[in-house]
Amino acid sequence: MFDLVIRGGQVVTPHGSGNWDIAIAGEKIALVGASDSATEAGRIIDASGKIVVPGGIEPHAHLASVIGMHPDERLMTLGPEEDTVGMAFGGTTTHLDFCFVHPGLDIPTAIARRAARWKEHSLVDYSFHVALGGALPLGVFDQIPDAIAQGFPTFKVFTAETLPPHPRRHPFRLDYGRIHWVMERLARHGGLMAVHAEDHDLVQFNYERFLHEGRTAGVHLAHVHTKLSEQVSFNHTIALAAATGAAVYFVHTSARDGVEAVAQARARRLPVYAETLHHYACFNAEDYRAPRGFCYHTYPSLKFPDDQAALWEGLLSDGISATATDEFPTSLEVKLRGDRIDNLTGGNLGAEARMGIIYTEGVVKRGMSLGRFAEVTSTNAARIMGLYPRKGVIAAGSDADLCVIDPAIHKRLTREDFHVSDYSPWEGWEIRGWPVMTVLRGQVIVEGGRLNAEAGYGQLIPRKIDPVILRRPAA
Ligand SMILES: [Zn+2]
Repeated sequence: MFDLVIRGGQVVTPHGSGNWDIAIAGEKIALVGASDSATEAGRIIDASGKIVVPGGIEPHAHLASVIGMHPDERLMTLGPEEDTVGMAFGGTTTHLDFCFVHPGLDIPTAIARRAARWKEHSLVDYSFHVALGGALPLGVFDQIPDAIAQGFPTFKVFTAETLPPHPRRHPFRLDYGRIHWVMERLARHGGLMAVHAEDHDLVQFNYERFLHEGRTAGVHLAHVHTKLSEQVSFNHTIALAAATGAAVYFVHTSARDGVEAVAQARARRLPVYAETLHHYACFNAEDYRAPRGFCYHTYPSLKFPDDQAALWEGLLSDGISATATDEFPTSLEVKLRGDRIDNLTGGNLGAEARMGIIYTEGVVKRGMSLGRFAEVTSTNAARIMGLYPRKGVIAAGSDADLCVIDPAIHKRLTREDFHVSDYSPWEGWEIRGWPVMTVLRGQVIVEGGRLNAEAGYGQLIPRKIDPVILRRPAA
């Protein structure tokens, strides 16, 4: 006797998909197999006509974070208690946020503070990347092996400041000397580096030049945070990774230049991975000119139609392993507060829409297979970030984390389809298929448009990366 059976949906597994039953005992999947009406369970859910995929994994979120674009105000993004409600409705069952370590803070303290902030406040499961920024004293890097051993094996760095200097702005950039030093430790101890890669000199010079020339309007951002900057910084980072043996994951790849740099590295069998954002795949720099166009902005910047084509090619075949949001949830007023190249509010609001948008734009419009859809929304992020096989796969023994998509829902999204903040950049978007039920560790947390769990249900999930991921491109 099982606790729950999801019956007859099109179940997507690494071994193919079929109209199977998923039997759940407690928090785990007990078996996946041919439909058997004799199976007994506390509850049986008929999923016929629906698609059942692994619960989404959002690898890139900044909740309860300082909004650095407006340094004279003490603004914060929305916290896990609000934003993870949207994740749950959108079929995302695990997210990764960041513990920022700046000079004056050490790694264990940064992790402990974020863990305390999330405990009892997140609806879905979670973990944190350790973000290292600024002129950190070298002794801090001795704490890396312990953090990896405690279940935090991913370290985020910025190769550039995304904004011009400001006395009240924390430095984010880690110099290439320290990046090299961190890579050596990650390669030795089973860690992976997540990189926000831009060329610091090119971007900062572009700010200076554009301000000097009076071209301050935010619509110029794609010419400040350029394709060339992505090309130079991706290749520079890959050269350091190749020299140290470290595995690298490029966050928010935005341009064809980045996709090609990653493809070349993978052709050399280097363990290099790329993430893109559904915003980058669906919007381009022309959209900055729309009435609420800065809604779509995140740093580095929206690029051009040819870049979007490259992102889709990478998502459909190989080269882009994961989709993320760079979630940075604010009110519409805060999101639209800046209008200049040096004060636009970055980040996106779209973790809730990620699964539905990639389903519509990838599977329905571009012929992405359901197996590939599961990879780029869940499985690959789980493998790269060390959550697999507990998360990211529908298989016996894994956590019963499921997203049920109804492919028959065809409509134009409105504000009422969303549960976070007072707007969504996806209002007005046509979708064909949308998540309708979410299961996390065996509990049906969203069903029939209602939330059935409370903030605090989410758990901190310890992570460990499979050595295969760290040795060669394997996701
Ligand atoms: Zn980010």
